Amino acid sequence: MTDNIRDVIIIGSGCSGLTAALYSARANLKPLVIEGHEPGGQLAMTTLVENFPGFPEGIQGPELIDNMRKQALRFGAEYKVGHVVSVDLSQKLPDGSSKPIEVNLGRETVLTRALIIASGASARWLGLPNEKALIGHGVSSCATCDGFFFSGKEITVIGGGDSAMEEALFLTRFASKVTVIHRRGEFRASKIMLDRAREHDKIEFLLDTVVDDVYDVNKQEVTGLRLRNLKTGEQWDFPTSAMFLGIGHTPNADFVGDQLSHDGEGYIIPSDGHVSTRVPGVFVSGDVADRHYRQAITAAGTGCMAALEVEKYLEGIGK
Ligand code: NAP
Repeated sequence: MTDNIRDVIIIGSGCSGLTAALYSARANLKPLVIEGHEPGGQLAMTTLVENFPGFPEGIQGPELIDNMRKQALRFGAEYKVGHVVSVDLSQKLPDGSSKPIEVNLGRETVLTRALIIASGASARWLGLPNEKALIGHGVSSCATCDGFFFSGKEITVIGGGDSAMEEALFLTRFASKVTVIHRRGEFRASKIMLDRAREHDKIEFLLDTVVDDVYDVNKQEVTGLRLRNLKTGEQWDFPTSAMFLGIGHTPNADFVGDQLSHDGEGYIIPSDGHVSTRVPGVFVSGDVADRHYRQAITAAGTGCMAALEVEKYLEGIGK
């Protein structure tokens, strides 16, 4: 353990963490950003981003995130490669005296007066042999980000929950046909969303069906899926231009445990409805606390809010 106590540590280097880093660096707080095992977060895995204001021609996700990183660096943010194993938010020793927040990175523990948790949420993937290689080339977990690229094309959405229905409905704006592929005959989606999807003339359903693989890595684009009916065992090739995953996200908050309020799926619940938590000095921003909007711009916005709250908190404790 080091005896060096930081003013603020930011867990996560997606656009929420980097916006928090920019604001707290400009407030002269020398933030330390723990980059995590998906540096840059979800933007680092997308291609063209057309809905982040300020870029009329769009910008590549990795370039946008790299710009944010450099911008915070210019004002004194520091970065550490590492994965947070656990945090100790108790801030009290057994004798009642105060201690800093502890961030355990496995091989070392870093100490801080204030903490911003901006660790994001990871899209769930199917784990198919060719899936990863085609992310950004027709395999996507974000209809809002990538739907536009498939105007006039026949595409697929995987899943049977509200996310899948929402994605399918959104994608009808661009695609000529959307096929929802779901592994069961029953749905988790709410009746209203399911009814809307069922009634849409561009949406079709393939039920009791799973995807065994996605093609074609050699062409660097999605040309089709290998499907299997779970009831009959029948396998067939299904031509399509894109596979959108709507099988949910997992918030990256395991390292917090029960020290903060969270919902049944692990999303952290801010105590004030914004970025504060029930622990003084601990703030939360971006997708780890947002199952609803999940946009780069909203994640950046709450990152800014968290940094402003950190400034206020540190002033309040006389730092
Ligand atoms: P979800 O409700 O957990 O649904 C996930 C779906 O993906 C399920 O149908 C599941 O199949 C399927 N799935 C999961 N893993 C799979 C795999 N490996 N292979 C194939 N299929 C797989 O997740 P969600 O749709 O993201 O919704 C999460 C929460 O957010 C829900 O409470 C939802 O109501 C809410 N939400 C609301 C809205 C809205 O109101 N506008 C929009 C999005 C999300 P099984 O059913 O067989 O398990």
